[in-house]
Amino acid sequence: METTEIGEVRHVTCCVIGCGPAGAMLGLMLAREGVDVLVLEKHADFLRDFRGDTLHPSTMQIMDELGLADGLLELRHTKARKIQARLPGRTITVADLGRLKTRYPHITFMPQWDFLDYVTGEAMRYPNFRLEMNAEAKELIEENGVIRGVRYETPDGPREARALLTVAADGRSSPFREQAGLKMVSTSPPIDVLWFRLSRREGDPEDTFGSAGNGRFMAVINRGDYWQIAYVIRKGEYRSVRAGGLEAFRRSVGETIPEFAGRTGELRDWEAVKLLTVQADRLRRWYRPGLLCIGDAAHAMSPVGGVGINLAVADAVAAANALAVPLGAGRVRSRDLMVVQLRRWLPTRAIQTLQSFAQRRVISSSLRPDGAPSLPAPARALLRLGPVRGLPARIIAFGIWPEHVKRREPSARTGRTPVGRKESVK
Ligand SMILES: Cc1cc2nc3c(=O)[nH]c(=O)nc-3n(C[C@H](O)[C@H](O)[C@H](O)COP(=O)(O)OP(=O)(O)OC[C@H]3O[C@@H](n4cnc5c(N)ncnc54)[C@H](O)[C@@H]3O)c2cc1C
Repeated sequence: METTEIGEVRHVTCCVIGCGPAGAMLGLMLAREGVDVLVLEKHADFLRDFRGDTLHPSTMQIMDELGLADGLLELRHTKARKIQARLPGRTITVADLGRLKTRYPHITFMPQWDFLDYVTGEAMRYPNFRLEMNAEAKELIEENGVIRGVRYETPDGPREARALLTVAADGRSSPFREQAGLKMVSTSPPIDVLWFRLSRREGDPEDTFGSAGNGRFMAVINRGDYWQIAYVIRKGEYRSVRAGGLEAFRRSVGETIPEFAGRTGELRDWEAVKLLTVQADRLRRWYRPGLLCIGDAAHAMSPVGGVGINLAVADAVAAANALAVPLGAGRVRSRDLMVVQLRRWLPTRAIQTLQSFAQRRVISSSLRPDGAPSLPAPARALLRLGPVRGLPARIIAFGIWPEHVKRREPSARTGRTPVGRKESVK
C-alpha cells in the first residue's frame, strides 16, 4: 500500500465491489486459486432483512465441490422438498425436489447474512483475500479507456484500489454500469412484493407453499420459528394498500390464509412490512476492458422462484473458472471477460423469460378480483407428460446451465499454492 495526496492506494490483482453472494463467492474462489483479491463492502455488516435466502441444489452442489457444504449446513436453516400451491378447493405440487438425483434435494433457507458470514469466514483463511467493510466504492478509475480500479470512501478517509480487473458485484442499483457506459435492457414486471413475518405455531404445516384466492397471491416460507411471507401486489398498488389501512391489510392476509387470521395482529405497524419493488433487467454487455459486472449488477431478477442468489453464485463460479488463470498470469483480455458473459447470458435470459411468463400468466391472473392462477391449456397438457412433469423442479433446482467448480491441475494454478483448511482446498 502507498499513500498519495488522494489517500491510501492499494494495489491488488482483482478488486470486487460489493460483498453480496456474488462478490463474496468470487472473492473466496479467486483467493482459493491464489489470486490477490480485495472485496469492498459499503456496510459495516451483512445484516439485511428479506434478502435472497433460498439456496437451491445448484448452490449447495457448488458449496459441496468447494468442500464447504457440510459446514454450511451446520448453521441454522430450514429445508423445503416440495413447493405446493393452495388454490381455492385444491392443493397442487408445483415442484417436488425430493425426486431429483442430487445430494441436496431441497431448497435450503438460511438468512443471507449467515451465508455471507460463512463464505467470507472461509475466504479469510487465505492470506491473499482481503475484505474491507465500511468501504463504499465511489468512482471507477479509467485510464486510456481501461478501468484500472476504483476510488472508495472509508471512515478513515478516501482510498484507491488499483487493480488489473475490477468486478462490479454491487447489486441491482450499481452506478458503475452507467459510469462504464454499459447499456441496460429493462423490463417492466407487473408486480411488487410486500415481505413480512408471522410466528409459526404448534400444528402449523411444515411445507413452504403459495396461496391464492380473493384476488391475492402469497408465498409462505417456513423459516423454523416464523413464517416469511411474500404478499404480491400489482405494480404501483402499494400506496393504495397503505391508504386502505393496516387493519384491511391484516384482514386480507387472514382471508387468503385462514389459519393465520388469528395472528395477523403481530403486524403492529407498517414498519413490519417491507416493500420490494420488483425489478428485472440485464446488461447488453457485461464487461469492458478492466471491468466485469456479475450478479444483480449484470441482471436484476424478479423474486419469482427465488433464483437471484443462486444466479449470483453461479456467475461468481463462472467468473472464477474463466479468470483465475488469466488473473494469475497478469493479463486479462476482453475475450476472457466475454467468456463469462457467454456462459451466463443464456441461463439468465431463459430464467427471466420464464419469470416474466409466470408473473404475467400465472401470478397476475390471480390478482384479479376472484381470479385464480391458471396456466394456458397447452402448458397444462405439456406438464402432464411424463418426461416434462419434473421440469419445474429441475429448473428451480439447477437453473438452465448449472456451473461447477473447475478442478485445475496444480501447475495450471497461479503459481501460489492456496492455503487454508485442507478440506476447503481442492
Ligand atoms: C427484499 C428482497 C427479497 C429477495 N428475495 C429473494 C429470494 O427469496 N430468493 C432469491 O434468490 N433472491 C431474492 N432476492 C434477490 C437476491 O437477494 C439477489 O438476487 C442477490 O442477493 C444478488 O446478489 P448480488 O451479490 O449480485 O447483489 P446484492 O446481494 O445486492 O449484494 C450487493 C452488495 O454490494 C454492496 N454494495 C452496494 N454498493 C456498494 C458500493 N458502492 N461499494 C461497496 N459495496 C457496495 C451492498 O451493500 C451488498 O452487500 C431478494 C432481493 C430483495 C431486495
